[in-house]
Amino acid sequence: MEERGMSREAIESLLQEKKLADLAYHRILSSMCTYPHEIAVYAHMMFLESNLGDSGLFPGTKEMEDKVIQMVGALLGAEDACGYISTGGTESNIQAIRAVRNRKKREGMRDMNIIVPETAHFSFDKIADILSIDVKKASLDEELRVDVNSVEELIDDRTIGLVGIAGTTEFGQIDPIKELSELATEKDLFLFVDAAFGGFVIPFLEAHYDFDFSLSGVSAISADPHKMGMSTIPAGCLLFREKSYLEELRVPTPYLTTKEQYSLTGTRSGAATAATYAVLKYLGREGLKKIVGECMRLTRLLVERGTEMGISPVIEPVMNVVALDLPEAEVERVANALAKRKWRVSVTRKPKALRLVIMPHIDEETVHAFAEDLKEVR
Ligand code: PLP
Repeated sequence: MEERGMSREAIESLLQEKKLADLAYHRILSSMCTYPHEIAVYAHMMFLESNLGDSGLFPGTKEMEDKVIQMVGALLGAEDACGYISTGGTESNIQAIRAVRNRKKREGMRDMNIIVPETAHFSFDKIADILSIDVKKASLDEELRVDVNSVEELIDDRTIGLVGIAGTTEFGQIDPIKELSELATEKDLFLFVDAAFGGFVIPFLEAHYDFDFSLSGVSAISADPHKMGMSTIPAGCLLFREKSYLEELRVPTPYLTTKEQYSLTGTRSGAATAATYAVLKYLGREGLKKIVGECMRLTRLLVERGTEMGISPVIEPVMNVVALDLPEAEVERVANALAKRKWRVSVTRKPKALRLVIMPHIDEETVHAFAEDLKEVR
């Protein structure tokens, strides 16, 4: 840091310069984030200083958090679910598994493991490290859903929980949560559904999928408002069916206005909570459905354009994620050639494919422009 501060004008110009170095979302097809809705930005700015880490000082923000948990709980099949607003999918995943790990540790269990699909987000590798548990990976079926037989085979007397994904990061696939729920019930295991992406998509799709608390074996769900919920970063919802699991995360906070905390972070943005509350109230289910409907229309259009040039998707897209099946040796070259044309795409791990996420910042013109460039560089 310099000894003397700079003028406001100089700072503004520095910020402009950095802003220009950042990419604008309109050619980004690799991200699960997007521009937040205008009402979310308004609410975020209004509650910038609010800290839910000491929520007794911010009862208005706390009320909004409770209301969001209730709204999202109702959307996901349990109005009386409990939980809190986290920093996103990673924190929610860590905390969901930490809750069951703490429960089992108190009961005297050691050397625990959980079973996740091979497609699980890399945050589960962090979980293995942080929580000192073994994370076993179950294989997939041909449609890239977790194979429930493989999950069952991996269960042993140290298994404390199963994880299903509703909207896999790379393929947008939904695991057979109903079968996982039955298995979890039969084996008396905790079942966590990672719906970080799908939580704000699946309820609004034309097809119906069983994936939420309406399945009695589902113990906890995460769904991120900062992905398809149109809110600001950082906003994730972690929901438990039973309060007793949330209680496993309780830490006494002696010198704060509230007596306990459940989150992983201490100081916690009230701004993103206000943003989430505002945008969910503003859009309602109808507004979110419209957004998902448009993303799905454009997803189908992109698949059509791909098919015209002889490129098919690895799986028929279930939600607004498309993995295009190019010859394995070609995928990186095509991704790099597209990057030279200022597109940002990503590459899946297994099978290798060109991954495109059709977020609300993508419009029809962009899909066509992208398809034309893809045709030229492939
Ligand atoms: N879970 C899933 C299914 C995801 O797709 C992601 C991120 O894309 C995460 C968890 C992690 O979310 P975050 O980046 O908000 O921590």
